[in-house]
Amino acid sequence: MTREMTIAEKLKELQTEINGICASVGRDPKEVKVLLATKTVEPARIMEAINAGYRLLGENKVQELKAKAEPLAAANPEWHFIGHLQTNKVKDVLPHIKVLHSLDRLSLAEELHKKLSQQGKTLEVLVQVNSSNEESKFGLPPEEIIPFTKQLKDFPTLKVKGLMTLALFASEEEKVRPCFKIMKSLFDQLKAENLPHAEMKELSMGMSGDYKTAIEEGATILRVGTKIFGHRQYPDTHYWPPKNS
Ligand SMILES: *Cc1c(COP(=O)(O)O)cnc(C)c1O
Repeated sequence: MTREMTIAEKLKELQTEINGICASVGRDPKEVKVLLATKTVEPARIMEAINAGYRLLGENKVQELKAKAEPLAAANPEWHFIGHLQTNKVKDVLPHIKVLHSLDRLSLAEELHKKLSQQGKTLEVLVQVNSSNEESKFGLPPEEIIPFTKQLKDFPTLKVKGLMTLALFASEEEKVRPCFKIMKSLFDQLKAENLPHAEMKELSMGMSGDYKTAIEEGATILRVGTKIFGHRQYPDTHYWPPKNS
């Protein structure tokens, strides 16, 4: 007789796999964190993951994050925002998040800095890279990443911690790997710049379909949803609408 694995069992299996991939490429598994992408997942099921020891959570929509933050507050998760952030939602998201993974434009940096300054706070941010150069995806093209990151020194409330990408073709390794290599190269170049405002510690890349390749290419944060929580009811275009819609 077979039964569905529990969330805790799936996490254990994932961790074992991560440890194995790290061993195969000589990386320390402690360098690779799992961020659970919890869009559409209800708080009770997220609680199962938190109880299994996973407290890094990522949401794509401000409303959904706000709705889950309260019922999960007692468990003290660390929220990351991983969706496209509209400028007019900045004030709503700031009270909840430790890290923004999707900084992709100066106007957003300006608004974040304005609100953070008023509150006397800082925010950890990752610059989002359009590593596959696809028209419909958010993120800055690779050639703009270094100048953009340098410009962020004008916004001292933003603590740049690294880069993030949403790779396409998750099932096609030969297309995904070059995207991750571009990411690692940009990451290393920025690290070598030793910018005081950009510490470059995190490389957020790899999802359920491509985390193995991401670890091999240097990811430090994997963003995993379906692999742990099962398939979502909504298509991903609901969460990542085409740029011009
Ligand atoms: C949904 C989502 C993920 C996780 O995707 P899965 O394929 O379900 O693992 C990762 N990153 C972002 C930005 C997402 O929106």
